[in-house]
Amino acid sequence: MIPFLDLAKIEKQFSEEIKKSVNQVIDSGWFILGQNVQNFEHEFANFCGAKHAIGVANGLDALILIFRAYIEMGLLKEGDEVIVPSNTYIASILSITQNRLVPVFVEPNIESYNIDPQPIEDKVTSKTKAILIVHLYGQVAYNPEIASIAQEHDLLVVEDAAQAHGASLNGLKTGNFGDAAGFSFYPSKNLGSFGDAGAVTTNDQELADVVRALGNYGSHKKYENLYKGQNSRLDEIQAAILSVKLGSLDADNDRRKQIANYYTKNIQNDKVILPKRIHEDKNSHVYHLFVVRVENRENFREFLKEKGIATDVHYPIPPHKQKAFSELNENSYPLSEKIHNEIVSIPCGLHLTDNEVEYITTSINQY
Ligand SMILES: *Cc1c(COP(=O)(O)O)cnc(C)c1O
Repeated sequence: MIPFLDLAKIEKQFSEEIKKSVNQVIDSGWFILGQNVQNFEHEFANFCGAKHAIGVANGLDALILIFRAYIEMGLLKEGDEVIVPSNTYIASILSITQNRLVPVFVEPNIESYNIDPQPIEDKVTSKTKAILIVHLYGQVAYNPEIASIAQEHDLLVVEDAAQAHGASLNGLKTGNFGDAAGFSFYPSKNLGSFGDAGAVTTNDQELADVVRALGNYGSHKKYENLYKGQNSRLDEIQAAILSVKLGSLDADNDRRKQIANYYTKNIQNDKVILPKRIHEDKNSHVYHLFVVRVENRENFREFLKEKGIATDVHYPIPPHKQKAFSELNENSYPLSEKIHNEIVSIPCGLHLTDNEVEYITTSINQY
């Protein structure tokens, strides 16, 4: 069976260096907010080309803390509307609702699965105060028109960059397309840790300070508290691991792009619709996932399973149809619903050999 993902195999290439780093942390006896976190924050900010990176406990917290910080700064308040794509992962929505802000769903472009400028403009009201763009599946969702809309209506732009570490558009990397960005280092992400971890990037010093304090009990100075904060910090051990893995992120993304290019050129089957890159720039998609659309999804998945190929679905139920959001269940987002009914993620990870990529392609062409 070709697995959808095989982290044990992927991590083998790092194991000696990582074990050495982890041992150093253990020997140091310093496990929270020390040199490793400081180093990684510096390295990740540099990598993204952003002024600040703040390590946090996970990707959801990164986004929650950004919105929370804007509330503390007086730029957002309870009941304000945040525009967000209707087909995103549930965490994007939770970061809005957990701050008592109101998500306003915008249908995506069915070919790219990403948000388009015009539908955003249509949803702006006097209550709209922010847009949460999601670089879904690894593709840069930013577009200069989104910045114009934000500027015209005085909206904050926040990026959910949990799936798009290192993706760039005309040289500008994710983490810089808005006022702030949330990253996840969940193990399966393009930059993954060995547990939960995340980061916020921003070019705004004040926001960076408030996020940092909020994630540390609201404290900017030991035992002095400016805010009613929470505990959401990046561990020293995770930071040490991330520093090692950051070194190969660009090469890892190149390999993902290579696999995706092969699929794009060689999968030829009328029943299988391939994902589209919206921007010319080849670096604007880092293929966290390679997501195709097939009308009879279960048939297709069963066919590939019989061929020994594992697939997955990201995600089978759109946020507005989740039981957790029962108040939204009656709403209708037909494009999003169609996407959620038809999408299939085929393996696109670093565990794949060239032969396996060819075999997956040939098998899909036989469907
Ligand atoms: C993974 C993910 C998150 C949440 O990250 P965690 O580290 O799992 O909390 C948020 N948004 C998107 C789009 C994601 O894929």
